[in-house]
Amino acid sequence: MFYVSTRGDAQASSKKKFTEILLDGLAPDGGLYLPESYPKVTRGELDRWRGYSYAELALAVLVRFIDDIPPGDLRALVEKTYTREVYGNGRDPARAAEITPVRWLEPGLGLVELSNGPTLAFKDMAMQLLGHLFEYALAKQNEEINILGATSGDTGSAAEYALRGKRGVRVFMLSPHGRMSAFQRAQMYSLPDDNIFNIAVRGAFDDAQDIVKAIFNDRGFKARYRLGAVNSINWARVAAQLVYYFRAYLAATRSSDEPVAFAVPSGNFGNIFAGHVARRMGLPIGRLVLATNENDVLDEFFRTGVYRPRGAADTFTTSSPSMDISKASNFERFVFDLVGRDPAAIRNLWSGIDAGGSFDLSGTPYFSALPEFGFVSGRSTQADRLATIRRTFERYGVIIDPHTADGLKVALEQRAADMPMLVLETALPAKFEDTIVEALGHPPERPAAAAGIEGLPQRVEVMDVDADAVKRFIARQVEGAR
Ligand SMILES: *Cc1c(COP(=O)(O)O)cnc(C)c1O
Repeated sequence: MFYVSTRGDAQASSKKKFTEILLDGLAPDGGLYLPESYPKVTRGELDRWRGYSYAELALAVLVRFIDDIPPGDLRALVEKTYTREVYGNGRDPARAAEITPVRWLEPGLGLVELSNGPTLAFKDMAMQLLGHLFEYALAKQNEEINILGATSGDTGSAAEYALRGKRGVRVFMLSPHGRMSAFQRAQMYSLPDDNIFNIAVRGAFDDAQDIVKAIFNDRGFKARYRLGAVNSINWARVAAQLVYYFRAYLAATRSSDEPVAFAVPSGNFGNIFAGHVARRMGLPIGRLVLATNENDVLDEFFRTGVYRPRGAADTFTTSSPSMDISKASNFERFVFDLVGRDPAAIRNLWSGIDAGGSFDLSGTPYFSALPEFGFVSGRSTQADRLATIRRTFERYGVIIDPHTADGLKVALEQRAADMPMLVLETALPAKFEDTIVEALGHPPERPAAAAGIEGLPQRVEVMDVDADAVKRFIARQVEGAR
């Protein structure tokens, strides 16, 4: 299996293997990596996979994309990752062993439980595997890496919990000082591991993000301190996310030809892109239902063919903050498939996007072909979120988080009578207590492991919006250890 860039030529020299792209973010030409072709899965294989554990299924799916790690080693990494200890979160042992069971709200409408990893959001599903893959690959190459990132919440904590204590890895995570919830702060800043460095910047998330960009643009610094990233464009994260689409499909069907719909609360288009890949591999996904909040760039595209990223100033702050994204970093991968994998077309479209513009595919053959890709979309607002949280609790006795509520709201609009609808649960309500209290008048239950987390000692370095100060801090930590 070789990987190509969405913007590159398909010359043999530019093709790479999985472990070569594992530690890379962007391809050198500015594009994103994708497998040269999607491996196909047959009905017979799907039937056989029905009896598999989550780890066995993960191995069966991932070996098709990773052929430069010996299968025995990959098996060990996957078995270490997908255990009921890592994803248990106080659920009863049988449910925990399922890793991502479906919780049926009523016949034909279910939630896929993806948020029982260490940080209570679906990002743990992929990030935990990434942590083990990083450690493995770095040990093989006898290298080390310093992960630098900015977070407004979920991604940063999922990365820290995946990389804490891993050999060869340090994490420098910037966050906006005083702007995350007390729970999110406690989750990140209370980690005691000495390879984790939290930096709170006296500014907004965008300021933190700009510092990270500025430091990555200093090529000399980046090379000297071996900086890397774990953002949502990392292909390994998409690959790991494929597994739960297969798992949930098999849980929701008896035979391997029944179509199932998936509804996905979306921001950077990483989660739902994995659904698209699973469908291209042959999983009978009847529909991919894309849900956005008020930041509806993606909904606009699927309705009109216009992709018009917004700037930071035009991005709304909502109560489903992990979807407050106005430029979907994985979207380029989907459009690459939509335009028949033509890198010249992508270079052309993204030269406009990278210059702050937009593009319009309406009236082109690409837009006419869109229905074949199975996507439908919709958006959800603050009022919709609150109403959906309330209604779900009243009808089913189940509390869902604001992101999952966006997904469920749009799922109900797009539901077909003859096709089961599975909504991906992307976080637990305990992470967003304020909104739950607003909707229901009382807070959700907290998982035992998170009880009293705000009372733990915290370690965080508070700094001004100053890239040089952050560089000096990184240099000190790395030099000190050398
Ligand atoms: C990251 C995240 C999303 C959005 O997922 P994408 O892969 O960026 O589309 C939705 N909900 C929650 C809770 C998240 O953390």
